[in-house]
Amino acid sequence: MRRRRVVAAVIAACALAPLAQQAISAEPADSVALQSRATPQPDTSAAIKREEQLRKHFEAQQAHLEWVKKRKEAKERAKEKAREEAREAALAKKRAKERAEERARQKRAEARQAATSAEFVKPTEGRLTSQFGARGGEQHGGIDIANSLGTPIYSVADGTVVEAGPASGFGNWVRIKHDDGTITVYGHMFEYSVQAGQRVEAGEQIAEIGNNGQSTGPHLHFEVWQNGSQKIDPLAWLGQHIVAL
Ligand SMILES: [Zn+2]
Repeated sequence: MRRRRVVAAVIAACALAPLAQQAISAEPADSVALQSRATPQPDTSAAIKREEQLRKHFEAQQAHLEWVKKRKEAKERAKEKAREEAREAALAKKRAKERAEERARQKRAEARQAATSAEFVKPTEGRLTSQFGARGGEQHGGIDIANSLGTPIYSVADGTVVEAGPASGFGNWVRIKHDDGTITVYGHMFEYSVQAGQRVEAGEQIAEIGNNGQSTGPHLHFEVWQNGSQKIDPLAWLGQHIVAL
């Protein structure tokens, strides 16, 4: 409705313009009136001219309406395009988020895999209370890691249990031969859960911390043997395999 009123107003204004032009260029009104009365013939050339002006005006009006329509359509297209772009941007953002989540999932899975397939692990958790080497005039053949009774003891690497049972001074011990020939020894346990000939994996629980044998408190006595029964510093050996205690 509003548009129709505006168009009508434009038509009216445009239609008046040529009349105003005519009025300025024409002779004084009185003289025109007199002439009209004197000669009542219609001024055909003026009528044709006016008709021509109206036709041109009508055409211009049509062109204007066409332009308005096209502009409106162009605006609609621009709006639709903007909406489409916003939808695509939102979708791209969603996909990027999904990809990031997928990467994070893969990373976590890899970390889990690395953790479970580690080649070497700590033999137990606890406090290092005695190092390898000379101790009170004697040679301490391993390291001591103290913790409460029952704390799990793990095989430090894949291997095969050579012996599990009583041993002088150790109370009980477990000896495991690893694939490179190195033997690891775990001592002072009351309890162990493996037997000779059994295959174990790095990180697999084999026993619990005890206070059995020549021991002054619950701890794991841990040794590393190479070339048969040559005792080497377990800390240095674990360090070579990137295990920090
Ligand atoms: Zn010891």
